[in-house]
Amino acid sequence: MNQFDVVIVGAGMVGASLACGLVDAGFKVALIESGALNPAQDWLPGQVDARVSALSLASENLLKNLEVWPLIENMARFQAYSAMHVWDACGTGQLDFTAAEQHLPYLGHIVENCTITSALHQTLESKKYQLFEHSQVVDMSAQEISPRCLTLASGEQVSATLVVGADGANSKIRQLAGLPTREWDYPHHALVTRVKITQPHKNTAWQRFTEDGILAFLPLSSAIEEGPDTHYCSIVWSRPKAQAEAMQALSDEDFCHALSQAFEHRLGVVTASDKRYVIPLRQRHAKRYVQAGLVLVGDAAHTIHPLAGQGVNLGFLDVAALVETLQKAQQQGYAISSVKTLEQYQSKRRGDNLRMMTLMESFSRLFANQHPMLSLLRNTGMNWVQKLNPIKQHLAQQAMGVGAHLPPLSQAPKPEKQT
Ligand SMILES: Cc1cc2nc3c(=O)[nH]c(=O)nc-3n(C[C@H](O)[C@H](O)[C@H](O)COP(=O)(O)OP(=O)(O)OC[C@H]3O[C@@H](n4cnc5c(N)ncnc54)[C@H](O)[C@@H]3O)c2cc1C
Repeated sequence: MNQFDVVIVGAGMVGASLACGLVDAGFKVALIESGALNPAQDWLPGQVDARVSALSLASENLLKNLEVWPLIENMARFQAYSAMHVWDACGTGQLDFTAAEQHLPYLGHIVENCTITSALHQTLESKKYQLFEHSQVVDMSAQEISPRCLTLASGEQVSATLVVGADGANSKIRQLAGLPTREWDYPHHALVTRVKITQPHKNTAWQRFTEDGILAFLPLSSAIEEGPDTHYCSIVWSRPKAQAEAMQALSDEDFCHALSQAFEHRLGVVTASDKRYVIPLRQRHAKRYVQAGLVLVGDAAHTIHPLAGQGVNLGFLDVAALVETLQKAQQQGYAISSVKTLEQYQSKRRGDNLRMMTLMESFSRLFANQHPMLSLLRNTGMNWVQKLNPIKQHLAQQAMGVGAHLPPLSQAPKPEKQT
């Protein structure tokens, strides 16, 4: 029997970063992943991941503190953005956030998901922990039995004082633990791809709210092989399912034409599109993140509309809070598996996650409703916030993940660790 302090199920962005943090904190860790880890991402020229993340400053801090960020920088596949421009296509409302207003060089970075996981998996290569690749968890012992025992599809068993479910939105661990969720479908599917545009994106994240959805253009770095005068954006176009699928089925030429129009030609003309993917969007929130010997992090605990690009940023804050909680418990001689210990993590994160999810839900509903009175209120409200610095400042700080009570791993690294 393999026996560990902590076994993390899922080596996505959240599980892999938690493994780095817990190994650094001195825990005996195992990581179980149903797929394979991908430390040396070999990309053919022009090949990209259609899935990107807008990483907040707090997420960047975590990745710097885990010494993962320099690897992301080395891959040169990321783009800083220094402004956000949001507008309502059905009125005059608009909102602008700039790094200059925040006295910062940038608001965050757009990074392909595969770049983040690849840098995390590379970092793990130099650490002492046990990896179970191509290993799917299929069963788990009941919570009364300590330590918890996980059964893999191969029949192998892995046992740990604490099991962490970092296995994504359809978490098997959450199901096996019987932790209930509140969940419902958003009226949108997200169409994602990378597109080429004729005008520079001005290091700005653009978002257009329309009567039937939300269209985001996120700035990407130029394709190295094509030179600096090429301009690319990653798009996330959240629309009703039928419309998203219809857009996916169009020829490249017709899709680029429709997209240029939908974006009001703000960045010139869309001249090329990579393969397009359609992802159903569902809100999910576990009513409890913990039980004796078990805890949920990242999408296993919460999934959120991508309109403000906050999903993995919340997951990284979960990681920092859980590492802090477990480290403290260990130093003070408390059991890391006890509900009392784990509830400290839950109380640090559940309220914050719920607030962000409620905010996103309100935005999504507010913009989906085309009642003329509501449209007027919405546009007046946006223009009002645009002029009111304290509210704008608060919204910007929420998006950047900066605040007073960040766990140590989400805070800016101490100068000697700074890269
Ligand atoms: C269109 C779209 C755009 C988004 N944009 C942003 C953005 O800009 N910024 C942002 O912060 N977030 C964004 N998000 C959200 C973000 O992508 C997710 O929050 C993030 O990927 C979740 O990471 P995770 O590690 O928790 O889960 P996952 O990435 O789902 O990883 C789970 C891992 O667990 C493994 N696994 C699953 N089941 C098992 C099992 N039984 N046994 C073993 N292993 C298992 C899987 O193979 C996988 O590797 C976006 C989401 C969408 C849909």
